[in-house]
Amino acid sequence: MSPEAGTGSPIGGTLPRPRSPATRDLGMRASLLFPDREVAERYYLPLIYTACRTCYSELEPQEIFDRATSGRVTTDKQQDLIRRVIESGHGSTIEHIVFTFAISGVTRTLSHQLVRHRAGVAFDQQSQRYLDYKRPSYMVPGTIADAPVEVRERYLAEMDESLAFYGEMLEAGIPGEDARFVMPNATRTNLIMTANLRSLIHMSGLRLCTMAQWEIRRLFQLIRHEIFTVSPFLGSFLAPKCVPLGYCDEDRNRDEHCPIRPHKDNVLAAWAEKRAAAKAKGREVPTL
Ligand SMILES: Cc1cc2nc3c(=O)[nH]c(=O)nc-3n(C[C@H](O)[C@H](O)[C@H](O)COP(=O)(O)OP(=O)(O)OC[C@H]3O[C@@H](n4cnc5c(N)ncnc54)[C@H](O)[C@@H]3O)c2cc1C
Repeated sequence: MSPEAGTGSPIGGTLPRPRSPATRDLGMRASLLFPDREVAERYYLPLIYTACRTCYSELEPQEIFDRATSGRVTTDKQQDLIRRVIESGHGSTIEHIVFTFAISGVTRTLSHQLVRHRAGVAFDQQSQRYLDYKRPSYMVPGTIADAPVEVRERYLAEMDESLAFYGEMLEAGIPGEDARFVMPNATRTNLIMTANLRSLIHMSGLRLCTMAQWEIRRLFQLIRHEIFTVSPFLGSFLAPKCVPLGYCDEDRNRDEHCPIRPHKDNVLAAWAEKRAAAKAKGREVPTL
């Protein structure tokens, strides 16, 4: 049993919060299994373009798809329409393409959050019931890796003890499905996740937000990176939700400590000021 965290940080000092989850090697991976770059370039843009264009064209979708895949409709033109349709919120057009990821070395803390997403996404996860682990491993969060030595060592001892007890119970004939009850949230797990682009954009909006838990945020940074490698255009739609919204709607950011976008309270206050000024000048202001 081993932490396999590879945090590499010196022990001691205070308990700092990691500034960015991307600065540590947490021993987790997300690899895009499908599509590869060739498939993404050849089919993904034309498929979305065909879905968008079919709504506004007398042409049959077969013809639209042929024009897109043969280059008779340029990539720029396809991207322009797709961008406008996505920004208008016509989400069904981007449900036609899917991305499949192998996700490994993440904790059960993360997977519990990840599988809360229900729409447009499928998961298969390593079973703690059917698998008798020979070497369960766990993650060490950065704050604990950087904690005073006695805190870190106590954490490592607790993890090792729980997982050693798990092994002892298996040896004593306790079924894996019951022995696993001693496994901590930090235990690592593996999943396969397939999601359509609409759900990936939605999940990324929530999970790339700085209010999200650091490990799942890190996972979506990796996912975003993977999609960029096959399609920078499609990858560019994966962003914290405040980016397309233009404002932050997170209650815990009313103080705007995250500066990516202004909080909606302040946007509405500025808007109210503008309305009052317009009214004072005798201009008609529409009401709800
Ligand atoms: C920062 C953060 C903190 C969180 N804290 C907690 C917490 O303390 N406790 C907790 O339990 N959870 C928590 N969650 C999980 C959260 O409540 C959601 O369950 C999770 O993010 C899945 O989001 P979703 O339902 O929008 O996504 P999905 O299930 O992926 O759904 C996508 C969208 O489809 C629509 N949709 C899906 N299913 C339905 C349906 N049945 N009916 C109508 N519309 C539907 C909705 O518009 C939804 O937004 C947290 C999430 C975040 C990002």
